[in-house]
Amino acid sequence: MIPLVVVGAAGRMGRAIEQAVAATPGFVVRARVDRESTHPPGADGWSADVAAVLAAGDVAVEFSAPAVCAAVAQRCAERGAGLVSGTTGLDAAQEEVVRAAARRVPVVRAANFCLGIAVLRQALQAALAGSPSGWDVEIVERHHRRKADSPSGTALLLARDVAARRGAPEEALRCGRGAGRTGPRPEGEIGVHAVRGGSWVGDHTVLLAGEGEWLELRHVAQDRLAFAHGALAAARFVAGAAPGLYTLEQVLAAGSRPQ
Ligand code: NAD
Repeated sequence: MIPLVVVGAAGRMGRAIEQAVAATPGFVVRARVDRESTHPPGADGWSADVAAVLAAGDVAVEFSAPAVCAAVAQRCAERGAGLVSGTTGLDAAQEEVVRAAARRVPVVRAANFCLGIAVLRQALQAALAGSPSGWDVEIVERHHRRKADSPSGTALLLARDVAARRGAPEEALRCGRGAGRTGPRPEGEIGVHAVRGGSWVGDHTVLLAGEGEWLELRHVAQDRLAFAHGALAAARFVAGAAPGLYTLEQVLAAGSRPQ
């Protein structure tokens, strides 16, 4: 049994992780971490402090907030616990804390744990290889009204995939187009646009637009269980991995796949 410590356990993703664990053999939730105000009344196994519950050999599965992610990564490194982390919107200093932790323990970080996003990234590479380099690329993402960061980590990942393939600098990314006389679209720009509303779980479309035609590659996450099963595949991988910072693609290549 792989012992999990679920961080952000009371949140939307934390609850989906619990559901996925209940449907997947080989895991046990040893502890749940969240703000004290969110603990169910009288429930055991909850803590507001990851340091109070994390032990060597655990795998922390963290979907919470950027500052929590960095703090949990530090604790995992100190205790000898693995980490699967999906929180988006980390700043450069927080990403560096996670990288430092990954020098001591195995860490999987992914902006999107859906298997379909890994497939979309491969399809995007094929589409970019097969289409003229002058075709415009725009990425549109849609999420629920409570999402804290914008654009989504997945949209940025896809935009950076395009930039890397085309040898474009980070400045080629344009998040939103603003109002007024914004002028013609600059050549080589990679547009990224965020739509917010309702209870949308996660929807990413990459548009490649040429003269008189366009191509759309789209992934829709209908249920958070799709992320949760990907995170459990990552937890299974982490439980047997050497220290390092791994991607979902590396997890899948190693044969640990979502159920
Ligand atoms: P949510 O707001 O529903 O849940 C977050 C939980 O973290 C809440 O229960 C909150 O109380 C807890 N939390 C926040 N700060 C805390 C603190 N200081 N101490 C203890 N607990 C704290 O959010 P969510 O929809 O579950 O998303 C969480 C994160 O995961 C976001 O960054 C989101 O973008 C990301 N996410 C990633 C993926 C992926 O596949 N990588 C998928 C969905 C969401």
